[in-house]
Amino acid sequence: FFIAFEGGDGAGKSTQVQAIAEWIRGKGHEVVVTREPGATAIGKRLRAILLDVGSAGLSDRAEALLYAADRAEHVASVVRPALERGAVVISDRYIDSSVAYQGAGRDLSPTEIARISRWATDGLVPNLTVLLDVSPETARERFTEAPDRLESEPAEFHQRVRTGFLTLAAADPARYLVVDAGQEPEAVTTAVRHRLDALLPL
Ligand code: C5P
Repeated sequence: FFIAFEGGDGAGKSTQVQAIAEWIRGKGHEVVVTREPGATAIGKRLRAILLDVGSAGLSDRAEALLYAADRAEHVASVVRPALERGAVVISDRYIDSSVAYQGAGRDLSPTEIARISRWATDGLVPNLTVLLDVSPETARERFTEAPDRLESEPAEFHQRVRTGFLTLAAADPARYLVVDAGQEPEAVTTAVRHRLDALLPL
């Protein structure tokens, strides 16, 4: 069973991923927590390039392909092997992040970005995608560390990303759960558990 958590920067994805992983482990399942970009050895190098403020001149298409390369490596060496041995895999970001950031955010075609990702992953789609939706303003208040290359983008960029995510979720309600991530973290976790209770034979 494959679960992806998506959402803008500062939506609280890592907190929720940990909480849900603990909950599923408590039911006796193996859970593999992973993330994009940067879950593999090659991915860590790609992540360093992608997030370095020194990569400011990176072209939009090159950026999209580096994310796709990170994802291809991630799926081949982490996600598929774990799913094949029956583990529950929870990924902090997946294809939708590319469609939202490199597509809606950067003004490349979301359809083309989705196609590249489909090729990179050989068609692996999550069973459930949890979209943690939060306004860029609320998200910004949560930043404590120095901003990476993306977090210094203007508010309009983050607004386009948010709309990009919401558009994806609206197109496929059966595979998405959209949660208001402006709520208390416990309320967000409860909403995700509720949906998983109905889906996972736990
Ligand atoms: O989620 P995490 O903080 O690890 O993401 C690192 C950075 O990469 C964030 O600033 C995020 O906005 C950006 N990113 C992106 N396109 C993706 C995935 C992440 O621009 N496809």
